[in-house]
Amino acid sequence: MNQRPLNLIEKLYITEVARGLALTAKHFFVNFPRHVVRGFGAKVGKGETVTIEYPEERRLFSRRLRTRHRLMKRADGSPRCVACMMCETICPAHCIHIIAKENPDPNIEKMPSVFDIDIGVCVFCGYCVEACPEDAIRMDTGVVELASYTREGMIYRMDQLLA
Ligand code: SF4
Ligand code: SF4
Repeated sequence: MNQRPLNLIEKLYITEVARGLALTAKHFFVNFPRHVVRGFGAKVGKGETVTIEYPEERRLFSRRLRTRHRLMKRADGSPRCVACMMCETICPAHCIHIIAKENPDPNIEKMPSVFDIDIGVCVFCGYCVEACPEDAIRMDTGVVELASYTREGMIYRMDQLLA
């Protein structure tokens, strides 16, 4: 991309610094009184101030947003997952770990004995959901607060994903 050459005034940077400071000051003096007014419970007009007082105030998420995974269950409460490994194979972050076992139902070949997702490594691409032939995994929990004090705490086990 071709950049426009700077003129002499712009090359001195002083005017640009002053313009930047003026813009910052304008936002401060417009928004600060609005926050004070909001603090007393008054409503301010839409669009002027964008600060969301999280976590007391939360925005609605889009229904399309990919959030923490969950594993779907059958009517009897067992995982719908048939341990086909499609999600583990397609995962670009290699953060899904599955160990398969025989399913007691003779009509279903396998089920997972271990199904872990390391959320700390997951890139939330949604490929696992797209690849699943059983609609056994979804990313629609709406859970986005996933912080943990340990790396181990970021690994979600099958019982957590089924809950
Ligand atoms: S969302 Fe993407 S990175 Fe995360 S577990 Fe699924 S496939 Fe892997
Ligand atoms: S793709 Fe679906 S059925 Fe296959 S292992 Fe993953 S969650 Fe289970």
